[in-house]
Amino acid sequence: MAPSRLVDLLIPPRLRKPPAPPSPIRIEMRDGPREIAVVVRPAARRMILRIDRRTGGATLTLPRGVARFRAEQFVQSQAGWLEARLKALPPRVAFTDGAMVPVRGVMHRIRHVGSGRGATHLETGPEGSVLMVHGTPEAVPGRVLRFLRAEALADLTAASRRHATALGVTIGRISVKDTVSRWGSCSSRGDLAYSWRLILAPPFVLDYLAAHEVAHRLEMNHSARYWRNVRLLVPDFRVAEDWLNRHGPALHHYGP
Ligand SMILES: [Zn+2]
Repeated sequence: MAPSRLVDLLIPPRLRKPPAPPSPIRIEMRDGPREIAVVVRPAARRMILRIDRRTGGATLTLPRGVARFRAEQFVQSQAGWLEARLKALPPRVAFTDGAMVPVRGVMHRIRHVGSGRGATHLETGPEGSVLMVHGTPEAVPGRVLRFLRAEALADLTAASRRHATALGVTIGRISVKDTVSRWGSCSSRGDLAYSWRLILAPPFVLDYLAAHEVAHRLEMNHSARYWRNVRLLVPDFRVAEDWLNRHGPALHHYGP
């Protein structure tokens, strides 16, 4: 069976047979041990240490044939730089009582309202916008996440259907995931997958992402013809792209 074509997704793991990746390097930092992921790139000319500003994860890229102890020495010699860079990253925001979280681009304070039963919901009152959560304190992060994922799925489903109707194409299953490398994907069968974190962004950004994936129903590529279709759906899509380039990484600092 021919593998299905996918765009906006890395090749699914079952389609490639990678050699076992090198194990991470563990280093001691002032605030405890830390694991550095290691990747080997034959084309790399030297060792490169990078921090992903979305996840705060560190990766060491190695040319082929570098001895393990040299790689470890290099990472250890960069511990001070690593520490400074990590400290400069915005802190992670857990979904706990009192935390400020954007929903559809508007900051909301999470308010835990005791053990009573009730659906998680948004409210805007004299003290601003709040995200009301019931239940035990331990249940709050999970409930907030489930609520945001459900809101994301609802908004993305509505936007995808609207754009599909406008372009005259069919779409398949719609789902939300927690992807880091892509905001959305479209399979050859028309199944659409999105990052739930798009619900944190202003609505025009989510709307553009839906248009982007739905437009792949006509063109499974990023050709000039493809972008013409996107422009039909979202004339000023560049504004949304720009927003994602600037603020997209920060969306990964919220929740799990
Ligand atoms: Zn695309």
